Amino acid sequence: MWRNPLSSTDFVWAHIGIAARGLDAPYVIENSHRDSSAGRRAAVVGGSLAGLHAAALLRSDGWDVHVYERSAKLLDGAGAGIIAHPATLRFLTDVEGVPASSICCRATAIRTYGADGASVAEPSRDYLTTSWTALYRSLLASVGHDRYHLGHELVGIDPGPDSVSISFASGHTTRADLVVGADGIASTARRVLKAETTREYSGYVGWRGIVDPGLLDPEVASKLSQAISFGSSRDGHIVAYPIPKSGDSSQVMLNFVWYRNVAVGSEFDELMTDAGGVRRDVSLHNPRPSALAEMRASAEELGPDLANLVASTPKPFLQAVFDQFADQMAFGRIALIGDAASVARPHAAAGTAKAAENGRMLAQALRESNGNVQAALSRWEPGQLELGQQLIERSKALGESAQAALTWPTRDPASEFGLYGPGR
Ligand SMILES: Cc1cc2nc3c(=O)[nH]c(=O)nc-3n(C[C@H](O)[C@H](O)[C@H](O)COP(=O)(O)OP(=O)(O)OC[C@H]3O[C@@H](n4cnc5c(N)ncnc54)[C@H](O)[C@@H]3O)c2cc1C
Repeated sequence: MWRNPLSSTDFVWAHIGIAARGLDAPYVIENSHRDSSAGRRAAVVGGSLAGLHAAALLRSDGWDVHVYERSAKLLDGAGAGIIAHPATLRFLTDVEGVPASSICCRATAIRTYGADGASVAEPSRDYLTTSWTALYRSLLASVGHDRYHLGHELVGIDPGPDSVSISFASGHTTRADLVVGADGIASTARRVLKAETTREYSGYVGWRGIVDPGLLDPEVASKLSQAISFGSSRDGHIVAYPIPKSGDSSQVMLNFVWYRNVAVGSEFDELMTDAGGVRRDVSLHNPRPSALAEMRASAEELGPDLANLVASTPKPFLQAVFDQFADQMAFGRIALIGDAASVARPHAAAGTAKAAENGRMLAQALRESNGNVQAALSRWEPGQLELGQQLIERSKALGESAQAALTWPTRDPASEFGLYGPGR
């Protein structure tokens, strides 16, 4: 059992509160905002982190919000680890009063593994880490299960002057004053709205996994449980960090992403074909046994500690890494947010923070526009396009240099995780 020290010590709550407030003023939801949105209906399409974040924010502002998710069952357990930036936690901690210690772990060192397998740990600024599942469960509780509609796949959008009608594969339709498209990298909303979109494969994939440290050599588990760790292989670099265990945040799990260069062509096509023979575009959770065996064997290149980590992962999964940018996020009463709007490579570890920030700024623009949804979206869009673009550019530069040099520049302050820039 690897205990999460955040859960057992008196983690100074103000610590995260102060950090979270660093970017901007804290949330204050005034009654006048509730009044202007009271009775107004918002439909959020996509019930993952971007959609839930926006829905929870709008609900707390008084909107009558409903979330429509394609999946027929709860997404619980769908993701892995997430670096918790101030923007990632701000709604949950500042508005909902969720203690950061109940959903986060803390890493206070950077551990760098050399080619000989030896490692050095150096003190770093505090990083809070969390898990996709912890955020999902907390945000879903804020939105409410009664407003979260599974098995609803968006197929059509029909904008009118005073409201928008959306339709689902089931034949069901609904109408709303505001529609938020949070349906991910392959967004149907974006396709239906014909947003100009560029997508580029980075030239590498990320093998991801979550491991119980109890399965590792205890000394290795101890090293990896306290730091953000970086190592390298002949074809890329790996990052690992502790996250809270799903359903029991007093325990620590270990999360990793191992980025491996794979050129476009037959090797990539085979890798992206799952055990059932289906060629996947973006991610797969059931890799072919031969791909898994190759990955596990190659992990020896990472040195004994990180090989121990990778080899102990019960269910590794794979994601191809892309840059994707849609040049429009506002379409009258319809907003695109999160991965539906833009996808940056994960090296700034800020995709979830960007999604949360898209929602927060949208809610703010709606509050400031006295109920005029179109005006709010027009005001909101330029800053959010710019945020997405800068994150793509910074993450691309970091990823390209790291995958070419086959190491992460841990001592370079420019390589720090962050949404608005290194460490921010
Ligand atoms: C390798 C890798 C590592 C990453 N690491 C990090 C990290 O450390 N930190 C971080 O912040 N981010 C990280 N990310 C990014 C992060 O996962 C996302 O950017 C973030 O969670 C926002 O996701 P989203 O909600 O916009 O999209 P998604 O999570 O893709 O959700 C989209 C949802 O929409 C639903 N949907 C799709 N189509 C329809 C439809 N037609 N109708 C209804 N519903 C639909 C889907 O079922 C899904 O639930 C990483 C990404 C990758 C690839």
